[in-house]
Amino acid sequence: MMMAVRASRLFDGVDAKPVECPLVLVEDGRIVAVQSGGDPPDGAQVVDLGTATLLPGLIDSHVHLAFDASVDSVDRLAAADDDQVLATMRASARLALSAGITTVRDLGDRDYLSLKLRDETATDPTAGPRILAAGPPITTGNGHCWFLGGAITPGAGTIRAAVRAHAERGVDVIKLMATGGELTPGSASHLPQFTAADLRAAVDEAHRLNLPATAHAHGTQGIANAVAAGVDMIEHGTFMTADSVAADPTVIAAIARAGIPIGATIAQKPNPAYTPPPRMIQLIPLIVAVFQQIQAAGIPVICSSDAGIGPLKPIDALPYGPAMMAKHLGGTPAELLRSVTSEAARACGTADRKGRIAPGFDADLLAVDGDPLADLTALTAVHAVFREGVQVR
Ligand SMILES: [Zn+2]
Repeated sequence: MMMAVRASRLFDGVDAKPVECPLVLVEDGRIVAVQSGGDPPDGAQVVDLGTATLLPGLIDSHVHLAFDASVDSVDRLAAADDDQVLATMRASARLALSAGITTVRDLGDRDYLSLKLRDETATDPTAGPRILAAGPPITTGNGHCWFLGGAITPGAGTIRAAVRAHAERGVDVIKLMATGGELTPGSASHLPQFTAADLRAAVDEAHRLNLPATAHAHGTQGIANAVAAGVDMIEHGTFMTADSVAADPTVIAAIARAGIPIGATIAQKPNPAYTPPPRMIQLIPLIVAVFQQIQAAGIPVICSSDAGIGPLKPIDALPYGPAMMAKHLGGTPAELLRSVTSEAARACGTADRKGRIAPGFDADLLAVDGDPLADLTALTAVHAVFREGVQVR
């Protein structure tokens, strides 16, 4: 049966000018028409959302469903067996969906558990977002997130084999840990873990298997290696040094020339009970300054969360991101809404189905009270959520 969704205004994922009095027609999980005003077709089920604003369901291009967003998320994951982890992941998936996040890209799990959940949510739209999954990230022996099970001895042959093994398991994306990271004791964010040649081999193998590859990279050398390797996206891109942050204009220019988007894992949900470590409090304004340079170079900056890794990063953190980006980096509401809808879809390789309200796209819809094109904080005032034509909230 056809469903006709009415609201007060609509942001289609692209156009800064909203559609007034929209009527969105949905059939078999897909959008078949978007019109301004007019009457629903005879026999259609009408869902009238009153004064709410409709926008595409949000896309978080960087989450970790396996981490529980506690202060000791790494230890708790280590202490839990797969069934316990899956139970946490299922609850997180439902929470994300209820916040209007209808697609997530899981960039690091344990034992390929996110693929299992992906298959569950693929057939049940109420169970969580559509999931794109990387499986355990490819890293080095005691490198960043080695405990997730994706550690290898560096080398072109070993990294190609790791990519193939991931592809055989059915992943949607290859996640490469190009540098160390904050979450892993003994790991250094500013130091590279793989050479450019190793990363190049991984990206070639991924592309040969029709998979995109994205690289976690903090330090300058790791970022430069990832760019030289031709990755499809860079996660973080903070230009961290041993004790500070220092943007490299040459590397920024190379990223811009290559047109590689950077996932700014900026979104966080306010949590008055938690104070971040002093190192992070000190680094954040410096990282903001780096992102101002990244943005000025014309590099697409995608708003994401890294949800799961700590108390400011629950799985429903993303809707807070666009307002934070506006505050720190500027940009119009439409630009920032694109970075969690159509631009995020493009970065994730799902731009043909996700991130827009237009005929032929999946009917992933978020309705919020108020007008996010005027006030981005309205993104957290959820009124209704639809995933692939099913109203889930
Ligand atoms: Zn991450």
